[in-house]
Amino acid sequence: MCGIIGYTGEGNAVPKMTKGLTVLEYRGYDSVGIAAETEDAIEVVKCKGRITSLEEKLEKHPIEGAHCAIGHTRWATHGGPSDVNAHPHKAGNVVLVHNGIIENYKELKDELSKTGTPFLSETDTEVAAATLNACYRPGSDPVKAIREATAKMKGSYAFGILFVDLPGEIYAIRQGSPLILAKGEDGYYLASDMTALLPFTKTYYPLKEGQIAHLTPDSGTLVAGDGRVFEPQWKKTEMTPESAQKGGYEHFMLKEIYEQPEAIVKSASTRITKDGLPDFSVDGILPDFWKPVKNIQIVACGSAMHAGIVGAKLFEEVAKIPASVYIASEYRYHPPLAVEGTIVIPISQSGETADTLAAMNYAKSKGLPTVAIVNAVETTIAREADHRVYTYAGPEIAVATTKGYCTQVSVLFMMAAAAAHACGRISDDEAKALVQSVVKDAPAAVLSMLEKRDYLRELARGLAGKEHIFYIGRGLDYALSMEAALKLKEISYIHCEAYAAGELKHGTISLIEEGTPVIAISTEKALYDKTESNVREVRSRGAKLILICRADAENPERSADSVIYLPINSLAATLFAAMTAVQTIAYETAYLCGCDIDRPRNLAKSVTVE
Ligand code: GLU
Repeated sequence: MCGIIGYTGEGNAVPKMTKGLTVLEYRGYDSVGIAAETEDAIEVVKCKGRITSLEEKLEKHPIEGAHCAIGHTRWATHGGPSDVNAHPHKAGNVVLVHNGIIENYKELKDELSKTGTPFLSETDTEVAAATLNACYRPGSDPVKAIREATAKMKGSYAFGILFVDLPGEIYAIRQGSPLILAKGEDGYYLASDMTALLPFTKTYYPLKEGQIAHLTPDSGTLVAGDGRVFEPQWKKTEMTPESAQKGGYEHFMLKEIYEQPEAIVKSASTRITKDGLPDFSVDGILPDFWKPVKNIQIVACGSAMHAGIVGAKLFEEVAKIPASVYIASEYRYHPPLAVEGTIVIPISQSGETADTLAAMNYAKSKGLPTVAIVNAVETTIAREADHRVYTYAGPEIAVATTKGYCTQVSVLFMMAAAAAHACGRISDDEAKALVQSVVKDAPAAVLSMLEKRDYLRELARGLAGKEHIFYIGRGLDYALSMEAALKLKEISYIHCEAYAAGELKHGTISLIEEGTPVIAISTEKALYDKTESNVREVRSRGAKLILICRADAENPERSADSVIYLPINSLAATLFAAMTAVQTIAYETAYLCGCDIDRPRNLAKSVTVE
């Protein structure tokens, strides 16, 4: 998730780039760059680091008299943060910035390399620039070239494009990644979101998929798929710079919950073969890697550890590989026995979690292969693991993770499917169905649950202000209950515990009294009756019951005060919908309690101490 900006007009383009990019830094901040047109060339200035590093560079080598420019602040996905991997990327007559992932960049790169195209960086973006350059000759039709080039690309993109022979003109196109055009008094603009443009104008148009935007100093037009050229229907935004940074959401946490469908697709879609099978070759993990694996140890902390518990169950159930989860801070002091064929999977959103890093280093010192699941690219855990699998969730600002956790689960789903298929434990069709359930059903299920937000807010009214809340569930639902309880605790400060549904009666049920809220999760059809019995046990002792269950559960209203129904088209759909329900309940409860949702007390986003 990078930030893009562009401008063409009468004004001085360079300060507009740095100002807009500063606002867009929340979308990524590992490297930054601009391409600005001067009288005789397009000058590219870019570097690793934040906007201040770019500003220092520009101070030493100022670009004068530029009235057209594009800029980018990066959150690396392909190729670590470095000067050379920073955007914009230039290939022949094309200079571009990109937000997204070109999934088939390896194939495209191989093709282009055969014809002698040189590559300087490790990015998918430079491949996109070279692909477009191969379709374009100075004087030819840029729209046709953009269509031809993007038709070859698979994945997601928003491009801001300059052609060296077309000064003062910017072209743009998007698929899957956002892009907004805007009209100011002194020219036309382009940006990933309206945030970056609020200092300049309030008139905007969100570019639709399939449309190509063409900006000149005095016009902003669109080219439809059928070649028709027309004026956008400009709109006026009411956003303030503060609200815009959160994409119009009141909190980053809510914004990140809503970003989950896109994040799931990003995390899964690069790991699918042309035939629709799960495949981690892009991460250097070939199918043969899984064959000798006899045991999996997952090490992580907090929510990542909870994602690991879901993952371990999937490895055991789908791939039939024994898997256990260890709290990272415990691992090296009480190391579990590692049988022949053990691999270790550390999971960390930030890639810098000290406990997880220490556990991983311990595992490495014992000669165990490590496969890290990490969000932030080129961080210590990612660098030092034998293999790294990025979750591509984009920057997560809220301290309480949502999309980070969600993409860890989606990657683990895909990994369990890949391992199962490689070891011959599921058929091609079963593997394809699992993949589809992650890339198609899960994002749709998240969206369908978010449509019920008003109802979830109503339920939160019954939770806000309570002293204790319990989550109960069995199997995968117990794993999800742990994350649900943690989410609620960390942002609403209400004491909340997760219990295996059958375990409550062995002691903790003594805490249930008249009106104690209990939230039961039941995503597994086979376990519904069992969980329902536990629901009745607590309800008969006065608990106020919210039941999160499958849409095909029989008469759940009989056993609960309120019911949240889940889609049932696949395990992934049911699970990701339940995940969204508990995240939203935590958010709405904390909101009603008046808590500082994005920055809960005593917590830090990345825990880099032991
Ligand atoms: N794939 C591009 C890169 O790594 C853009 C990243 C993004 O938009 O998240 O540079």
